[in-house]
Amino acid sequence: MKPDLFEAPDYYNIDDLLTEEHKLIRDSARDWVKRDVSPIIEEYAQKAEFPKQIINGLAEIGAFGPYIPEEYGGAGLDQISYGLIMQEIERGDSGVRSTASVQSSLVMYPIWKYGTEEQRKKYLPKLATGEWMGSFGLTEPDHGSNPAGMVTNFKDMGDHYLLNGAKLWISNSPFCDVAVVWAKNEEGRIHGLVVERGMEGFSTPETHNKWSLRASATGELIFQDVKVPKENLLPNKSGLGAPLGCLDSARYGIAWGAIGAAMDCYDTALRYSKERIQFGKPIAGFQLQQKKLAEMITEITKAQLLALRLGQLKNEDRATSAQISMAKRNNVDMAIKIAREARQMLGGMGITGEYSIMRHMMNLESVITYEGTHDIHLLITGLDITGINAFK
Ligand SMILES: Cc1cc2nc3c(=O)[nH]c(=O)nc-3n(C[C@H](O)[C@H](O)[C@H](O)COP(=O)(O)OP(=O)(O)OC[C@H]3O[C@@H](n4cnc5c(N)ncnc54)[C@H](O)[C@@H]3O)c2cc1C
Repeated sequence: MKPDLFEAPDYYNIDDLLTEEHKLIRDSARDWVKRDVSPIIEEYAQKAEFPKQIINGLAEIGAFGPYIPEEYGGAGLDQISYGLIMQEIERGDSGVRSTASVQSSLVMYPIWKYGTEEQRKKYLPKLATGEWMGSFGLTEPDHGSNPAGMVTNFKDMGDHYLLNGAKLWISNSPFCDVAVVWAKNEEGRIHGLVVERGMEGFSTPETHNKWSLRASATGELIFQDVKVPKENLLPNKSGLGAPLGCLDSARYGIAWGAIGAAMDCYDTALRYSKERIQFGKPIAGFQLQQKKLAEMITEITKAQLLALRLGQLKNEDRATSAQISMAKRNNVDMAIKIAREARQMLGGMGITGEYSIMRHMMNLESVITYEGTHDIHLLITGLDITGINAFK
């Protein structure tokens, strides 16, 4: 892979709206990605393996629980810092950002928000350092966009719960130490349970042959009469709103992360087009190529402003789920379109692993699908503005 010469575009001087602390956090994540992710990520994506050696580095840049209070091992940062870290990591690779998103927003967040003080103290510090890695089990083979239909269930056996069912498409599942699993009790109410590796009847087979997020491990969570201690139930929230609260936090991070992937594609295409000579001049001098670049930087700038404003609303605890949906949908769509255009600008070279663009493009096919598909987010906006449910 070519050396990482990334220069971040900031067409509207958005840096002026960030604090010194934001910029410090962003720049240290950016430096780490250049040093520890870019040189190895293509090889790991090619061999479809998560690079476990970067777990310590992810913890050090604050990627595991950026907004979790310091007393639980988190970095105690604001939501804009969280977004900037996700942006920088996804600039390197969406799969690596997925690992960080799951750990922070889908595992640490529910334990912090819905767990007991004992659960927080037991799990959060180890998750913050990456000593323990987590996964989040909501999706099932027959229930993706409609998680309310889930069939995974647990029964009260007096001194423990008995968990049965299966989850599919679970990021980090093959190597997770703990899984936050969503299952129905005997009354059909959804609850979160923390399942630990080693519990009898719990297995995590890996899903192979993905063309997308190849540097992220994906798999199943299978529960066959798993005895889950009663103290592993997250008691402080139940119903579908509990997992959806986690998804709000993760989708917010994705809205920033997608900007990182788009910035990398734009920056690569800009540099390439100034160097690549055809018909006696750089291809950047042709109107058709300039149109692509001009549209890319316009869309990136709009996405940056959307994410920043959403971050301000999140900091004030005023961001709605529908606002988060809009940003996730818009920014991922923006990134995937830029990746497709940027790939064309590199001609044949664009399909190789010499450049990051094709990897970003394939990764973004997962990002536009998980955490609510592109169409599902459109329906969320539609419901929000009309008050009419078009899901069914
Ligand atoms: C790489 C990867 C990692 C993932 N990681 C996780 C994870 O860590 N944890 C987890 O729980 N899940 C995870 N997922 C699952 C992901 O969230 C689901 O794939 C997603 O929610 C879509 O569900 P589905 O694949 O079953 O598609 P389906 O729900 O079957 O949807 C198929 C198509 O139908 C459309 N559709 C569905 N309902 C409607 C409707 N009412 N109106 C119009 N169109 C509709 C969808 O938009 C989509 O285009 C991951 C997925 C991938 C690919």
